[in-house]
Amino acid sequence: MEYIDNSFEAVIGLEVHTQLLTNTKMFCSCPNVFGREPNSLVCPVCLALPGSLPVINFNAVKLAVKAALAINLHINQRSLFARKNYFYPDLPKGYQISQFQDPVSSNGYLMIDIGGGMEKKIRINRLHIEEDAGKLIHTGSNSFVDLNRAGTPLAEIVSEPDLSSPAEAVAYLKDLRDIIVYLDISDGNMEEGSFRCDANVSVRKKGDTELGTRTEVKNVNSFKFVEKALEYEINRQIELILGGGKVIQETLLFNSKTGKTESMRGKEEAHDYRYFEEPDLPPLILTDEFIQEIKDSIGELPKAKRQRYINDYALSEYDAEVLTQYKDVANDFDELVKINNGKIDIKKIANWIINEWMLELKKRCAADNNEHAQERAAQPDENSIPAEKIINEDLINFKMEEIIKDRKCFLDMIMQVEDGKINRNGGRLVLYQLVENGKNGNIQTVEEIILSLNLAQVSDDKGIEDIIKQVLEENQKELSDYLGGKEKLFGFFVGAAMKKAKGKANPQKVNEILKKQLEKL
Ligand code: ADP
Ligand code: MG
Ligand code: ZN
Repeated sequence: MEYIDNSFEAVIGLEVHTQLLTNTKMFCSCPNVFGREPNSLVCPVCLALPGSLPVINFNAVKLAVKAALAINLHINQRSLFARKNYFYPDLPKGYQISQFQDPVSSNGYLMIDIGGGMEKKIRINRLHIEEDAGKLIHTGSNSFVDLNRAGTPLAEIVSEPDLSSPAEAVAYLKDLRDIIVYLDISDGNMEEGSFRCDANVSVRKKGDTELGTRTEVKNVNSFKFVEKALEYEINRQIELILGGGKVIQETLLFNSKTGKTESMRGKEEAHDYRYFEEPDLPPLILTDEFIQEIKDSIGELPKAKRQRYINDYALSEYDAEVLTQYKDVANDFDELVKINNGKIDIKKIANWIINEWMLELKKRCAADNNEHAQERAAQPDENSIPAEKIINEDLINFKMEEIIKDRKCFLDMIMQVEDGKINRNGGRLVLYQLVENGKNGNIQTVEEIILSLNLAQVSDDKGIEDIIKQVLEENQKELSDYLGGKEKLFGFFVGAAMKKAKGKANPQKVNEILKKQLEKL
């Protein structure tokens, strides 16, 4: 990373807030969903009406512990909730229930890729559970309060200041988000605020061991903005110091239009949150069995999977990346490899998944989106699906067995292609038919499909010889051009032969036999 003066280095620590994918809020039974009619998802607890009492959402605890274990944090079997007191119109209680001393987990780390095959260990101070605040909506000179989000569950993940550049900060965020989305802990949607980040940054002369004074850039809502905000802020701090000034500790906002950070509040205006233990909630006690059960449910994380695909199956980095992008796809691939038991080359299976199966899933996703859009248009009330949810390319998580019933058919199809019984295009058509059968409840073996669609390749030499003879006869002019030295026309003859065979000829055979016949002339 180039700064305006490269004798300086940056020190960055991130605080990430991630919404937990629970059905209900953190301390009450209101639904935890995005994009509904303002103030339609509220109750005495999240409105903070007098006399109401919070109850801990067990599922939120599970998700938080799962996230914590995935990033190597130590789970504290006894943790406490605390009140963080401050006044803001989106916070009806006048305090946020969070964890302060004794968080649910502490002392973890995440290994991030820093390029060139190098990894770096980023220590994580803690992950704790808290509730979100509501939202202010500003229109013209008015401000409105929407408390639908008030009381929804969050995990806050605080890194140590181990990140040394904006690029590292982004790498950390991406890895963290990947894990959290993969484990269904959060949808990780940055625009909707399900995954938000406060970036703390300071600079110091290279080689210095003491930390410089830091500033905190609040709520940056995309990877690109995190990078831009940090770059701007690092250069601003360096410039300030070079000019003889001092960085003052303050909270900043990133203005994405100007690309600059702007002061929100200084240290003097910093809140004194007057934390104290939440008197309405008991300590959170987690048993060994509970922790073990969650540990067991995590399984192999995407990064480990990717590495295994590269090491054990010799897949390219790109292929491994694509295969591990979606949990169901990775799982289907793993299962196929298992049933295949060494018969078909694993790379071939990977190719069919990446090129054909994922295409089918994307089509399905587009169709689903379309259906939702129509539903929404037909019934535009507050319970319909919010527009923001409709087009979401990320949602191509479908299980193969829900679509084609039996994964083995997928392998049978590849096997038929490998054996030369059908060609690649035939394989595609078999796959479409398997999908159609899945929809209609038809049961057909791959052989039956090949027969009913008449896809069997013409691979017998005699058949292909006849076709090629016909092609050469019908294209006398091209033939004499070819024999006169225009060798490019070879492809033309192959194409014509394939066409004549209605795509069912084995292209390799066609090539061989054509070559032989031409040599004879
Ligand atoms: P606070 O309690 O004021 O929020 P913390 O000590 O919890 O402060 O730190 C908040 C975040 O700021 C952490 O992610 C931490 O790594 C980071 N941080 C702390 N000091 C510095 C610094 N001098 N430069 C950059 N980041 C820092
Ligand atoms: Mg903090
Ligand atoms: Zn509620």
